[in-house]
Amino acid sequence: MEKIKLGISTCLLGENVRYDGGHKLDRFLTDTLGQYVEYVPACPEVECGLTVPRESMYLEGNPDSPHLVTSHTKQDMTNRMVRWAQKRVAELEREDLCGFIFKSNSPSSGMERIKVYNEKGIPVKKGVGMFARIFMEHFPLLPVEDEGRLHDPELRENFIERIFALKRWREALAKKESRGIIVEFHTKHELLILSHSPRHYQAMGKLVAKAKDLRLKEFCSQYQTLLMEALKLKTTSKKNSNVLMHMTGYFKEQLSSDERKELLEVIDFYRKGHIPLIVPITLTSHYVRKYNQPYLKEQVYLNPHPLELQLRNHV
Ligand code: SF4
Repeated sequence: MEKIKLGISTCLLGENVRYDGGHKLDRFLTDTLGQYVEYVPACPEVECGLTVPRESMYLEGNPDSPHLVTSHTKQDMTNRMVRWAQKRVAELEREDLCGFIFKSNSPSSGMERIKVYNEKGIPVKKGVGMFARIFMEHFPLLPVEDEGRLHDPELRENFIERIFALKRWREALAKKESRGIIVEFHTKHELLILSHSPRHYQAMGKLVAKAKDLRLKEFCSQYQTLLMEALKLKTTSKKNSNVLMHMTGYFKEQLSSDERKELLEVIDFYRKGHIPLIVPITLTSHYVRKYNQPYLKEQVYLNPHPLELQLRNHV
């Protein structure tokens, strides 16, 4: 797989673009995730023409459509930022991004819970950074996160799973946009989808079954929307345990009674939160290889992102 292209707030890469001349380097993003990702940086405040250092800014007014204002001289930067952001998102369309990582708590780049001050100077944490809002409205299906939320192991796994899935989807369509390719993609991703959302798993199965009745563009667009919606929903130990139990059904006849007992025990330990997901996944993968189970061998669920990222190692 080629590197995945991700947009990122420039200061997270260690560039000195912040209002105080500093940066917010995030080593996980640069050194670990960076091995699989090509970043496309965007610093709204510098790229819209402000200097480093500069006055800090904040949001004020209606949380749904706030103004961006400088802290001391009270200059309204809203129009300047909006004009720049609209131009920048149009440029970013050409980058084929699979997602964006925003800087948290920024009135320009933060994706959620940004302070917006009312006329009495009292903040409510209900705002969205001005560039982040325009970006998310322009690319509603793209996975987005901020670096703060990515410290949470479940949110991190979810985001990274989505960007890898989107990259595989784009690579599949780049080979040839056809019903057959989409059906093949779906077959390989069925259990991954099931681990996020049994409801989407059913809906996507029905969509694939009636693929011939739809125009290709329509099929493709409906499938992609459902895929991104499904993967955005969090997996849980209950959903993962159900998928693991479902998988054992494919080779239960071949397992010895000892093997079967051990596998069921391991799945149960995982369901109860005693061991991480990687343990039952590794044991299941072992039996899939040992008994050469053709459908399971192809399942992305067993290997949705590089093991080195250790995303399934938390309890
Ligand atoms: S938070 Fe956004 S606007 Fe502020 S320095 Fe970082 S990239 Fe630039």
